[in-house]
Amino acid sequence: MRVMRKDAGNSQKKGVYGEAMETFHRAADLVGLHPRVRLELEEPDFEHIFYVSIDTRDRLVPLDKEEEKHFLDLPASSVKAGDALEPLANGNFLLHRRALLNADISLREGVLRIPKRGLFRIEKGGPRKFKAYRIQHNQVRGPYKGGIRYHKDVSLDLFKTLAAEMTWKTAIANIPFGGAKGGIRVDPHAYSREEIEHLTLRYVYKFKNFMGPTMDIPAPDVGTNGDIMAVMLRQYTDGERDKHALKGVVTGKDVRIGGSEGRVMATGQGAVYCIEEWARVTGFALQGARVLIQGFGNVGSSAAQLLAAHGCRIVAVDDAYGTVHADAGIDVAALLDYCYKNPENLRHSVAGFPGAAAISKADFWKVEADIAVPAALGGEIDGEVAEGLKVRMVAEGANGPITLDGDRVLAARKIDVIPDIICNAGGVTVSYYEWLQNQRMEHWTEQEVNSRLERAIKSNYAVIRDIANDKAARTNDHDSRPFCIGRKVDMRAAAMVLALKRIEAHYLLEGFSN
Ligand code: NAD
Repeated sequence: MRVMRKDAGNSQKKGVYGEAMETFHRAADLVGLHPRVRLELEEPDFEHIFYVSIDTRDRLVPLDKEEEKHFLDLPASSVKAGDALEPLANGNFLLHRRALLNADISLREGVLRIPKRGLFRIEKGGPRKFKAYRIQHNQVRGPYKGGIRYHKDVSLDLFKTLAAEMTWKTAIANIPFGGAKGGIRVDPHAYSREEIEHLTLRYVYKFKNFMGPTMDIPAPDVGTNGDIMAVMLRQYTDGERDKHALKGVVTGKDVRIGGSEGRVMATGQGAVYCIEEWARVTGFALQGARVLIQGFGNVGSSAAQLLAAHGCRIVAVDDAYGTVHADAGIDVAALLDYCYKNPENLRHSVAGFPGAAAISKADFWKVEADIAVPAALGGEIDGEVAEGLKVRMVAEGANGPITLDGDRVLAARKIDVIPDIICNAGGVTVSYYEWLQNQRMEHWTEQEVNSRLERAIKSNYAVIRDIANDKAARTNDHDSRPFCIGRKVDMRAAAMVLALKRIEAHYLLEGFSN
C-alpha cells in the first residue's frame, strides 16, 4: 500500500527532526511502507528526559580587557599554582582549596592576580543541574544502540533525529540492534575530568534500569570517549555479581577493559572503505587526491590518517576553533601530535598548527579539492556552502552534515554524496563486534575486525548502489535483488530503502501484538 504524506516537501517549519525525517518519508513512499510500520517508526519508542546534578568546584575565570582596567593596581597573590590550579579547556582554572593554603591573598571584589597568569574572578562552585536525554527510537531488530553526546547545544529534537538515524544505520549495517541516542546538555570544556566523571555517574545512576547489554547499549559520540565509557561500565556493573556478563552494556571501551581492536578508528575506517568503493566504481584514483576534512576528532582524524595512507593530500582541516590549509598537503602525523600529544592544546584543536596556514571557515569550504569529509556536527553544508564547494564527492563522516537545501544543490551540481547512514556505519558495526566479543568472552585481532568490517561495509554499500542504479545483482559478496524498487533513486534514498525493507520484514513476519 502506498501512503503519501500531505505535508511532504514543506520542510520550513519542521525543525531538525522533521527535516531529517523527510528522507524517511520519501523512502517510505517509494517502498510503499506498511502504514502501521510507518507509524511505529515516525516517532521514537521512548523519550527519556531527566536531570542530573553534581557539586562543582570554585573556578578562576579570566577577566576581559575592559574589566582588567579596574584592577591594574591589584597586587599579585602568592597562590600555589602547580597542580592546585587545574586548567580547563575553556581557559578557566579549577581552584582546589590547597592552592590557598598558606597563601598571601589580595582579593578585591572577588578578583585576584596570579603571577604570570593574569587577573581572575573567583566564580563560586556549588551544586549544578544539567538536562539529560536518552531517546530510544526503535528496537524491532535488537537492543537500542547509540552514542552519548556531551555538548552545550543538544536538544530533544536533535537526539530524536540522531536516534532515528541509528535505527536506519544498524539496519543498513545489518547488525541486530535498534536505534537510540542521548547525552547531557553541558559544555565538557567548561568542566574538569572529575566533574565530568561525576556527571556520568549520575547519568547512569538515573538511567540504569533502562539500559543493559540486551536492552540499550551506549557508545561514545561528540564530547565523550572511551574514558567515559569506562566510568559508565563501572557504575552499571558495580556490585553486580555477574558483572563480567554485563561488559557489553557499553561499547567504545578501551581495549584493555573489553573494547575491540579497531574500534577507535572504525568510523573513519568505514568511511574510507566507502570512499574506496566509490573511487573504484567511478574510476577515480585516490593517489594524489585532494581532501578537505572538517572535524579533527575521532572520525575526522582517523579518516585523515587512512586517506593519507592511500596517498591522498589532506589540503585543509577545519575544527571548532580554527582552520588550517596547506596546498601541498598537511603532514597528518604532525597534526595529530600537535592536537593530541601537546599538553598545552587542551581543546585538541588544529588552530595554531605551525605546519599550515590559518584560513577562515568560509574559505575552508571553497578550497579546491576532490573529496570533502565533513566529520564534525550536523547541518554544516547548507545550500550556500554547497554552492561554493569545489569537490566531486562528499563523504558524510558526521551525522547529517548536509541540510536538505545542501542536498538539492549538490544533486543539481552532480556532486556525489556517500550518505552518513552507510558512510559512518563503521563505528556501530565494530561496536557490534565488541559486544559479540564481550558476550562470548573473546578477543579478536585488529586484522580480523577490519576484514569483517571491510566485507560488511563494502557489501552493504554495493547493495545501496544497486538500489540507486536499479540494477539488482547477486555476487559472492552481496545480493541486492530483494531491495531494488524498479526505479533509480539517489544514494540517500537508496540507503533508506535498504533500511526500511530490513526493518519492515520484522514487523511483517513477526506481526504486531494487540
Ligand atoms: P569528536 O568529539 O571526537 O570530534 C568532533 C570534532 O568536530 C572536533 O575536532 C571539534 O573541534 C569539531 N567541531 C565541533 N564543532 C565544530 C564546528 N562548529 N565546526 C567545525 N568543527 C567542529 O567527535 P567524533 O566522535 O569524531 O564525531 C564527529 C561526528 O561523527 C559527529 O557527527 C558524530 O555523531 C559522528 N559519528 C561519530 C561516530 C564515532 O564512532 N565517534 C560514529 C558515527 C558518527
